[in-house]
Amino acid sequence: MIITLKQNATQVEVQRLVDYIEDKGLKTQLIVGENQTVLGMIGDTTVMDEVVLRGIKCVQEITRISTPYKKVNRAFHPEDTVIKVGDYKIGGSEKIVMIGGPCSVEDDDSFMISAQGVKDAGGNMLRGGAFKPRTSPYAFQGRGSEGIHTLCNARKKLNMPIVTELMNANRIQEFLDHNVDIIQVGARNMQNFDLLKELGKIKTPILLKRGLANTIEEWLMSAEYILAGGNPNVILCERGIRTFEKYTRNTLDLSVIPIVKQKTHLPIIIDPSHATGDWKLVEAMSLAAIAAGADGLIVEVHHDPVNAWSDGAQCLTPAKYKTMIDKSRAIAKVIGRDIY
Ligand code: PEP
Ligand code: MN
Repeated sequence: MIITLKQNATQVEVQRLVDYIEDKGLKTQLIVGENQTVLGMIGDTTVMDEVVLRGIKCVQEITRISTPYKKVNRAFHPEDTVIKVGDYKIGGSEKIVMIGGPCSVEDDDSFMISAQGVKDAGGNMLRGGAFKPRTSPYAFQGRGSEGIHTLCNARKKLNMPIVTELMNANRIQEFLDHNVDIIQVGARNMQNFDLLKELGKIKTPILLKRGLANTIEEWLMSAEYILAGGNPNVILCERGIRTFEKYTRNTLDLSVIPIVKQKTHLPIIIDPSHATGDWKLVEAMSLAAIAAGADGLIVEVHHDPVNAWSDGAQCLTPAKYKTMIDKSRAIAKVIGRDIY
């Protein structure tokens, strides 16, 4: 249950209300926003009589919420969460961030060529997996720690933040030691609760991908784990879900963008590459995502897709990535936003 307080509520009135609620065995959380202050109640709210609450002077409105997630709930936190990464801000209503790079971090030279291509095309941040979750144990598993070094070298040379996937909590310290700017939790680990709990203990922004077959509510509950642990910096990422459709690798559920914005205050970005599995579909889905309100895109880009070590079929070349960004900027302007 959430109480929206009147704008002219005094501190004494609010404290009296807090005491009244806490005397009934509930916990409270006061969230002071720019335009609105709300008081969240945590616990068994069935003991609260709404009629009595409505009669209290400083109460403007009461909203009952039955969602199992609290900290990611927009009702508890009316303002958008804006996450600072280097010179960029992810979330809010202004600029949209472009993350690009190959599926996996290849050798230094190859990665640098793709990374330079991403930068020249107008990309803001670099992606690349060093630890790769592969369906087959015989497929390339990533360069591991060496790949992290390659990413760090590229970050230094190009002055671009890096995003890379963490699969196991025992690598968190290594990621922290290298100051990985955004830690990705891949679709397959969305419900690795031990991992989520550990990520709640740090402050590095977490890119939390939606699971292959998870509902929005399950996804938000996973975000809740991280926030409940103490890390407020979660960026949601839709990457397509498993359906009966075979013409695409996954089905891109773009309706999550307005839903997530309604239900939570967290930023959301879209991965059109894993969502479609086909570079020919990536531009159209990227533009649609921007139009629908995405706060960013994470796209696989490779200078030589045919020879990429993984996911070449869904990689854009830097030239195609540039065209995509240019068109995205035009769409962003239509909805009053811009690309970095
Ligand atoms: C990736 O981004 O490299 C990746 C493996 O994505 P997902 O977890 O969405 O499959
Ligand atoms: Mn990939």
